[in-house]
Order: sequence, then structure tokens, then C-alpha cells
Amino acid sequence: MPAVLMKGPPLAKSMREQVAAEVAELGSVGLATVLVGDDPASDVYVRGKHKAAGEAGIRSIDRRLPAETTQAELLAVLAELNGDDTVDGILCQLPVPDQIDAEAVLQSIDPMKDVDGFHPFNAGRLFAGHPTFVPATPLGIMALLEAHEVPLSGANAVVVGRSNIVGKPIAHLLLAANATVTICHSRTRDLAEETRSADVLVAAIGRPELITPDMVKEGAAVVDVGITRTDDGLKGDVSPAVAERAGWLTPVPGGVGPMTIAMLLRNTVQAARYRRNLLAFP
Ligand code: NAD
Repeated sequence: MPAVLMKGPPLAKSMREQVAAEVAELGSVGLATVLVGDDPASDVYVRGKHKAAGEAGIRSIDRRLPAETTQAELLAVLAELNGDDTVDGILCQLPVPDQIDAEAVLQSIDPMKDVDGFHPFNAGRLFAGHPTFVPATPLGIMALLEAHEVPLSGANAVVVGRSNIVGKPIAHLLLAANATVTICHSRTRDLAEETRSADVLVAAIGRPELITPDMVKEGAAVVDVGITRTDDGLKGDVSPAVAERAGWLTPVPGGVGPMTIAMLLRNTVQAARYRRNLLAFP
């Protein structure tokens, strides 16, 4: 029997409606994005975030800086947004140009406005099992798994990819859900042997269709985070043929991607609650 498709759009839609209702209750909520340079993919992502924010009633501030911006200039803009009372959430779109140290940028965002959850304070809270802001893509993955009632407690979960944006945070969330977690990466000796042991497999690699049916356990839940633009269109990290073997599968497109934006909006509402003392920030 082919896999149940874990589709992002219906769940993302209901979450965005919920966010809109919460925003209406809160009055005014503000999200600021900062984009340095003119990378076309980053431009598409930032536009998508503003469109979604607008639809949820979130006021969004779109700061664009030229590619030659210095680190000091970028940090000055972030400091200004940190101090702006009308701004609840701030994110700096990655990657930043080479002359800028991304780590310094992430550390300069007020942890209470850090809706991407990339500040070491928020990453550390997740590591310690007391999450505050959690990165949006892993949150979206967990929401899809929960909505489809995929069993996690005691399950073998294998995450392929160890980035700070997806791989590491999703591994922590799965661990918090009582899965036994293995993290694989480019130096893993026998990837197929690891992935075949997975009841839950998360592929966050960025290599089109690297995960083939022979690498997947019959009935496993497979989450495809990868998005690569190829001449044949958008490709995930998982071959579509895996649908014949898996129990659940997220499609690409229409799986994790839409969930990411919905979760960013949720994090923005969470920031607004912290800033209005409706929620205690640690
Ligand atoms: P990254 O480049 O930072 O990390 C990729 C990881 O894959 C690395 O840890 C690397 O060790 C591992 N890897 C590379 N080649 C491998 C191989 N042959 N075998 C095993 N592991 C290998 O990427 P990222 O930021 O984590 O993103 C991963 C993918 O997810 C990309 O395609 C990205 O576009 C996509 N993405 C999607 C969303 C979304 O909302 N859907 C969000 C973030 C990232």
C-alpha cells in the first residue's frame, strides 16, 4: 500500500488561521526581516514570509541592505530593530555575504525577538530540554508527525544532516519525544545501513533523491526536508519511489516547506506574548 502523504498546505492553513485570530486578539504584532544582498532564492523566501505575515495581520518590516554592507553596518541595523518597540520578531535571512560573520549576526539579535531560534541562548534552551524559540522547519516537521499520529516514543529516528537550522534541532525535538535518535552526515560510514533501521527518517541533506527505496524500512515515516532546484524542477532528498515502501511520506513540494512559514508566524506571536508579559521569558 502506498504511503500516506503528510501534506503541508492543509495543516499550515489551519495554523495560519489560528495565528491570524491570535494576532487580532493581541492588537498589533510586528515582524522585521533583514536581507543583505540580492540572492534570488533568499529574495523568494523573504517575499513569502512577508506575504504570509500580511495575510495573518502581522505588520512586517522589510529591510534590504546592499551586498557590500559591512558587518558593523548590519549589526547597527539589528541593534535598531532590537530597540524598536513596534518590532516583536526579527530574523536575518541566511546566508549573509562572506565579509559578514553569520554567528556574530545571530548573537546580536535580542533572544526575546529571535523568532528563527538561532541565537545560542535559544539553541541552548532546546539542547537543555527547556525550549523557548525553536527553529521553524523542525517545528513544522513535528507538527506534521503529530497530526498524522506517527508513533515517536521508543521509535528509532534517524536524521540525515547535522545543520543548526534543521538536523540538530529536529534531533533534539525527536529525543524530547522519547525517540532513540541517530544523526547521520556526510562522513557517516554506511548511510543505508543506518537509514534502514529508521522507524522515522528525516532527510535534511540538499542532495536530490539521495534516499532511495532500498534505504527505507517498510512502513517507516519519511520526512523529506530537502529542496533543490534542478533543470527538472524542484527535487527533494527522497526519491518519490519511496512512497511504495514507506508508511508515511512528506511530498516535495507541498510537505515541510509550507509548515516552515506557518511556524515562523507562530513564533512571531509567541514573541509578541513574551514582550507583552503574557508569557514568561526565561
Ligand atoms: P546544510 O547544507 O547546512 O546541511 C546539509 C547536511 O547534509 C550536512 O550536515 C551534511 O553533513 C549532510 N550531507 C551532505 N551530503 C551528505 C551525504 N552524501 N550523506 C549524508 N549526509 C550528507 O543544509 P540545511 O540548511 O540543513 O538544509 C538541508 C536541505 O533542506 C536543503 O535542501 C535545504 O534547501 C532544505 N531546507 C528546506 C527547508 C524547508 O522549509 N522545506 C528549510 C531549511 C532547509
